[in-house]
Amino acid sequence: MYKRRQTRQIHVGSVAVGGGAPISIQSMTTTKTDDVDATLIQVHELATQGADIVRVAVPHEGDARALPTIVAEGGVPIIADIHFSVRLAMMAIEAGVHGLRLNPGNMRNPQHVKDVAVAAKERGIPIRIGVNAGSLDKTLVAKYGRPTAEALVESALHEISLLEEHGFTDIKVSVKHQNVMEMINAYRLLSEKTDAPLHLGVTEAGTPKQGSIKSAIGIGTLLAEGIGDTIRVSLTAEPVEEVKLAKQILNAMGIRQDTFDLVACPSCGRAELDVFELAQKVEAAIEKMDLPPMQIAVMGCEVNGPGEARDADIGIAAGPGRGLLFSKGKQIGWVPHDQLVDALLKEAERVAAEIRSTGDVATGSPTVVKGAGRRLLDVGFRGAGGGTGQAN
Ligand code: SF4
Repeated sequence: MYKRRQTRQIHVGSVAVGGGAPISIQSMTTTKTDDVDATLIQVHELATQGADIVRVAVPHEGDARALPTIVAEGGVPIIADIHFSVRLAMMAIEAGVHGLRLNPGNMRNPQHVKDVAVAAKERGIPIRIGVNAGSLDKTLVAKYGRPTAEALVESALHEISLLEEHGFTDIKVSVKHQNVMEMINAYRLLSEKTDAPLHLGVTEAGTPKQGSIKSAIGIGTLLAEGIGDTIRVSLTAEPVEEVKLAKQILNAMGIRQDTFDLVACPSCGRAELDVFELAQKVEAAIEKMDLPPMQIAVMGCEVNGPGEARDADIGIAAGPGRGLLFSKGKQIGWVPHDQLVDALLKEAERVAAEIRSTGDVATGSPTVVKGAGRRLLDVGFRGAGGGTGQAN
């Protein structure tokens, strides 16, 4: 049973983080923040895709001046990524940002840390401390020989103390590393030493191909252990891809179900059609549809196909020349191979409409598929309803 470690709760605008709140998804814009229009377009795009919180970089005064409009029109909580400048931090606070990303240790003057802590506390603005292997303090790197998990945690605890000595506790923390095992170990260690909510991420994870694997393993392992309150996938790609992947990680773990789950067999010598092509066509089409969470199965034959297709909300199990369409566990009818995608999407629309109108779905009337040949209701494949477990 998935059980989360207890952390204290903070609020990034309207989004609760920690303390049992749903695990939130974050991403970061890649636009120049002072380009307000471009930044707002990206913020809206990220929010539409499922980002709960969006961070924007604030390296210059012009970026800070753009914040009031971005905060007012962003539609999701906005975090200003500051790093060290007290002047930019104070401008961001004045702009009404919902969170700051800032490491107090980067501020040379202790009075600056105090000023930021006091101003952020007055306005209820939380601060994320973000320790990163690539920018770890040189003395810690020297002490540990390299940016180890222990070094990241020591740095994070020091940063936390710099804020806490001013009575500031609305903190969340990240200890990111590009090495997945160091990252996992760092968060494990940190979770033993603080009850601050944790922001998970594998830093510089790379292109979608490598970054997806690293992020899924790093973030997924920790979430499975109950560690983590908010996640950011870092990819060298358009930020919407980060949000999509974050959703997929949460979806695959059953933590959050706000997108579709495509179950597709790997295909084998028993396949009655091109399963790769069929699954890709279905995935591409579903991504463009506004569907409530549902599981869709695409199976290549009558061995494991009917069982999986029946268990999904909607499923296809291919047979010779045609496939059997299932909806909510019932056989709907036979459909020629070349009409399977259309039939499945049509049934998905019907089920979605029913979910929206009733909040649930009953086994509905069959989707009528022209030219489907005979329709079989409750007369299925040989062995329909239970696969042999072979090949998968
Ligand atoms: S046996 Fe399994 S992997 Fe092979 S085609 Fe059938 S469902 Fe797909």
